[in-house]
Amino acid sequence: MMAVPFRRTSKTRKNKRRTHYKLAVPGMTKCPECGELKLAHRVCKECGSYKGQEVISK
Ligand SMILES: [Zn+2]
Repeated sequence: MMAVPFRRTSKTRKNKRRTHYKLAVPGMTKCPECGELKLAHRVCKECGSYKGQEVISK
């Protein structure tokens, strides 16, 4: 026999649980050099900059 839930989960409770469901991956920031969205703490793949300099050539 399977356990049957005593109360059904309300819309509010269901929605509150799903607030952790995010569309995009967090940790994206705007590159200060070119303004593109990039991963935080990573070298920008658009312009190759990190912390203002540290440029990698394309
Ligand atoms: Zn950039």
